[in-house]
Amino acid sequence: MNKQTLYKNTLTNKGVTSDICDYKIKRASDSISCSYCNKEISHSASYEDGRELCKKCFDNSVHTQEEALEFLPKLINDMKKFGIDCQNMNIPLRLINRKSMEHESKSLKNFIPIGLTSRYNLNSYNSSRQIVHREPVIDSVLILNGLSVTDFCMTLVHELGHCWIHHQDFPQLEPYVEEGLCELLSCIWLKQQNIPERGQKIQNLLNYSSDVYKKGLNRAMIALKDYSFKEIIQYISLKGIFPPRYYN
Ligand SMILES: [Zn+2]
Ligand SMILES: [Zn+2]
Repeated sequence: MNKQTLYKNTLTNKGVTSDICDYKIKRASDSISCSYCNKEISHSASYEDGRELCKKCFDNSVHTQEEALEFLPKLINDMKKFGIDCQNMNIPLRLINRKSMEHESKSLKNFIPIGLTSRYNLNSYNSSRQIVHREPVIDSVLILNGLSVTDFCMTLVHELGHCWIHHQDFPQLEPYVEEGLCELLSCIWLKQQNIPERGQKIQNLLNYSSDVYKKGLNRAMIALKDYSFKEIIQYISLKGIFPPRYYN
């Protein structure tokens, strides 16, 4: 992870005490637009990756590791209500800047994610080299710093979905099935929040995310018309695909 220079947050007078922040507060010579809400602003929090945030968006975003970790138990609790229990898992959550995310995700071509989970299995073998025990391990859960609270939570719920799936004995899932399931979790979580723009956010995920996510979520939403979330999970756990449509 890159060590970053610390800047005092003069927009809010709140000291930033993390080594992950890569923004500084500046006064622009010309008005610029906030990268999140598009409003014209003269002062902004300026990130090394080019994002410029207005005061309102800046104050409503997640910047420090401490803030990020505070959300974790609440979201794990929310997910337990949907039958997704991550309570006894080790979730090594880290908030990182765009440069680190670019470095961590260099295998993804032309695409820098806002969340990234890496995981592996510690396998035990018998003398015939057959696996006798699988120990699922979550290596890291990385989330981009400076996301709005809503986007941060949706991203963390999505990544917790990957962590949970890794701890189940599911058949091998095609990427669109796994991503669709994790996106569905994010949407189900969002629907329960009192956030006015939640409908628009779900529409954006259905229409504008990259192909594998869009395909997966659209397929998951079709399944949700005929099945409960629990039934969808059960079907995927057995067959590795979304349950069939009732109609053609
Ligand atoms: Zn803004
Ligand atoms: Zn994912």
